[in-house]
Amino acid sequence: MKITVIGAGYVGLVSAACFSDFGYEVTCVDRDARKVAMLENGKIPIYEQGLEPIVQSNRQAGRLVFTENLKEAVASADVVLIAVGTPTREGEDAADLSFVYAAGEEIAKAMNGFTVIVTKSTVPVGTAAKLREIISKARPDGDFEVASNPEFMREGSAVEDFLRPDRVVIGVSSERAEATLRQLYRPLAAKNVPIVATSCEAAEIIKYAANTFLATRIAFVNQLADLCERVGADIQDVARGMGLDKRIGLQFLSPGPGYGGSCFPKDTRALAATARQYGNPFTIVENVISANESRKRDLADRIQKVVGGTLAGKKIALLGIAFKAETDDIRDAAALTVIPELQRRGAAVAAFDPVAMDNGRQAFDEVQWCADAYSAAIGADAVVVLTEWNVFRGLDLKRLAKGMRQPVMIDFRNLFTLDDVKGSPMAYHSIGRTSQVPPESRRADIIPFKSGTV
Ligand code: NAD
Repeated sequence: MKITVIGAGYVGLVSAACFSDFGYEVTCVDRDARKVAMLENGKIPIYEQGLEPIVQSNRQAGRLVFTENLKEAVASADVVLIAVGTPTREGEDAADLSFVYAAGEEIAKAMNGFTVIVTKSTVPVGTAAKLREIISKARPDGDFEVASNPEFMREGSAVEDFLRPDRVVIGVSSERAEATLRQLYRPLAAKNVPIVATSCEAAEIIKYAANTFLATRIAFVNQLADLCERVGADIQDVARGMGLDKRIGLQFLSPGPGYGGSCFPKDTRALAATARQYGNPFTIVENVISANESRKRDLADRIQKVVGGTLAGKKIALLGIAFKAETDDIRDAAALTVIPELQRRGAAVAAFDPVAMDNGRQAFDEVQWCADAYSAAIGADAVVVLTEWNVFRGLDLKRLAKGMRQPVMIDFRNLFTLDDVKGSPMAYHSIGRTSQVPPESRRADIIPFKSGTV
């Protein structure tokens, strides 16, 4: 079976690499010449654990090829997977499907013989039907099927998620499309991965429903954390006590600076837009979106309050700019809201992230990029943890505090327990916990942090 993947981003590249690892011949197409050149030279344009060795071994075996030439790649393919971006449409909530439809037009012109065209991108309900229409119009003679195969991989564990998914969803509208997709995923079905065959419409909705449900859990636990601060409970205890209930589970119950990344913000908005479009407003999702947006907006207020009521002339050291740990992706990260806001209020920002600083340099002006957390903290009025990188969990707080103007940590990820920070020179503020831990000797100019504000 010959496979062509359109798009060499997080999803396209990982899918292409993993399918070639199953033994298929895979061509991965991207129109970004720089990306293709890097891949052809054995360089991986994104940070994703475990991806490089799979790409290299399959390239060397001749099963994985990168190209800009969509026409050739599609002509020889039995299955074409579309894995291009579906960002939010400018000024709206709906998904921008222009990349998907443009890819569809190009595929239509190039396909040769029976071809199954599969959307792996996250696309709103009705997209497969529309794509079918576009391709039929461009190639009335074309022998093809359109199917929907949403991807559930998470950045940071994408390879593992692809090779050992909880399930594979295939949305199909004919027996031959189903047979082709079942064959494509035979290596996973053989390992007892459930293959859920549905209509294209159901498959399209499943992806948005899953992401929106997870985003809802995050928004829920964040507001619960706010309540915990006010009533004197510890959110870590509450989340554990809730999550150990098997009906609930522990995942996606960690309070934080609000969800970000390339999926949850745009997918929640797109689902809400679809629901509005069909005259069936999804009010729960609308509330999740606004709760998350206000959480991100509040971050600068929380920091300002802790450092003494004004940010003018202050230096803030940010630890982590990626939207979560184990990725270099900063799309819709909390840092995108908080850095410009801190700067607007007169603060200087220093930052360190283990892998996302190259992306950061392109996104932000006037940030001092540092080699590690300790150098970022020098002269700072507060160290703010934004991303839950493991490397921050073992920080030596004494050493960190030593070079700071004010030894203050605002931990938006609750990386430390209150016991961890007791006795350290750092004033420690976290989320959803009863109280701050004061430093051994508090400086007079630090406004005491009251329970209920971070
Ligand atoms: P991305 O932006 O990282 O990659 C998209 C790639 O497609 C880019 O390299 C772009 O140059 C290329 N491209 C666009 N149009 C093209 C065309 N006509 N021909 C060739 N190449 C083209 O995007 P991503 O993060 O991989 O996401 C892709 C889709 O998968 C989105 O719909 C997203 O919602 C979904 N998804 C993403 C994740 C994730 O973790 N990133 C997980 C599940 C699903």
